[in-house]
Amino acid sequence: MFRLSQYMRELLAPTPLKPARKPPAPVVIWNLIRRCNLTCKHCYTTSADIDFPGELTTPEIYTVMDDLKAFKVPVLILSGGEPLLHPDIFAISRRAKDMGFYVALSSNGTKISTDNIDEIAAINYHYIGVSLDGIKDTHDQFRRVKGSFDEALRGVQLCLDKGIKVGIRFTLTQDNAHDFPALLQLMDDYDIDKFYLSHLNYGGRGNRNRKDDAFFEITRQAMDLMFDTCYELLKAGKDREFVTGNNDADAVYFLHWVKQRFPDQVAHIQAKLEQWGGNASGVNVANIDNLGNVHPDTFWWHYDLGNVKQRPFSEIWLDTTDPLMAGLKQVPRPLEGRCGTCNYQAICNGNTRVRAAQTTGNYWAEDPGCYLTEDEIKATDLGL
Ligand code: SF4
Repeated sequence: MFRLSQYMRELLAPTPLKPARKPPAPVVIWNLIRRCNLTCKHCYTTSADIDFPGELTTPEIYTVMDDLKAFKVPVLILSGGEPLLHPDIFAISRRAKDMGFYVALSSNGTKISTDNIDEIAAINYHYIGVSLDGIKDTHDQFRRVKGSFDEALRGVQLCLDKGIKVGIRFTLTQDNAHDFPALLQLMDDYDIDKFYLSHLNYGGRGNRNRKDDAFFEITRQAMDLMFDTCYELLKAGKDREFVTGNNDADAVYFLHWVKQRFPDQVAHIQAKLEQWGGNASGVNVANIDNLGNVHPDTFWWHYDLGNVKQRPFSEIWLDTTDPLMAGLKQVPRPLEGRCGTCNYQAICNGNTRVRAAQTTGNYWAEDPGCYLTEDEIKATDLGL
């Protein structure tokens, strides 16, 4: 996850480089339930509005939570399916808050209503992310439910009215990129705190011509717009957060943006980005699915590291006898292809390994989702 606004603030008000803080344990994205009232086109969990057998019971969830706390996991992102369909979501959330976790809820927004907003507000979630795939018709088509955009936006408004920190989660695809500018405008109109742009974790082909690829061009235009919007809003004193996910090359692309506009600050931003260090799957990000299987992140659902019903998360996470986990935790990672020779590995860390594995069968092959040109990954004159 690339926290764009954090680095944009560094442009406006640089802060000294301090020693890096190593998180004691990963952020855990926890799919508590696979049931969902929507069936979105790009859903990585292929959810449906049915009960899925074998899911963790609430007492099992509490046992795992105790282990996560003892392991010093700082953040729980409660997700689904639709987490608000979990019959014990509020009890689970309250317990997590009482234990001192940073607790976020990742929702489709349609189940936030006047019936439950007081209970949601009483939990005092640190953050609620609501997915929007575009404006109105685009969103409804993606979500395959007419009226779901209005319902989701109503959920956002209810949260805002209660003073809950809320954000839009937008997954960029070729079919909804045209709505991205309108969503950024909606963020401003509704005074929404955060915008999370997720890149579609698509497979793609291994050897793409990056100059001619239409999807890469769309991605670059979207990033340019996000950078410009973030800069203008922060400069105007509007305290908004902009974050991207599933493409750590965004940080390298941002460095090139800085070079063009603020050449004097390239070295400072580069040092800050290197301190962040790029992709953190299997290191600072973890996923537990609805059945209790542990994965290096949410896009590795086909790859189980172990199950919390049989073995504590803390043990599974530290076990590097698994070859994927050993490689993900290796510094530097054993990257190959253009990722292996890229000059910005220290910023990107080889991006999203699941895309490489899906297209080549090799975890360490180059990421086919990298939209940077050869010149951009070979450039050495940025601030060095
Ligand atoms: S080539 Fe690989 S390591 Fe370099 S920016 Fe692209 S995805 Fe990241």
